[in-house]
Amino acid sequence: MNTKVYYGEKLFDPRWIAKRKHILNRDQFKCVHCKRSEVKLHVHHRQYHIIKRLNVHADPWDYADNLLITLCESCHSKGHRLYEVPIKYI
Ligand SMILES: [Zn+2]
Ligand SMILES: [Zn+2]
Repeated sequence: MNTKVYYGEKLFDPRWIAKRKHILNRDQFKCVHCKRSEVKLHVHHRQYHIIKRLNVHADPWDYADNLLITLCESCHSKGHRLYEVPIKYI
C-alpha cells in the first residue's frame, strides 16, 4: 500500500489545508505528544480508511476529527516507525 505517494498529491488540496488548520487549531498548535509548539507540526491520521465499494483510500480530509491529531515532525516519524497505522475498510 503506497499511502505516501497517494497523500503527497493531495496535501495541497484546499480541503486538506482547511481540515489541517482546523485540527491544528483544536490542538492549539502543539504536538499532542510532547507539547512543543515551536516545531514543524504535522497532522497525523490514526487510521487509514479504504472505501470497500470503490477500493480506494478515503481522501485525507474525509476523516472524523477524532481520527486526526497534531504531532511534531519528530514524534510523527517516531510514531510511524513504531506503529503501523491500522487500515479500516469502510
Ligand atoms: Zn512531538
Ligand atoms: Zn502519520
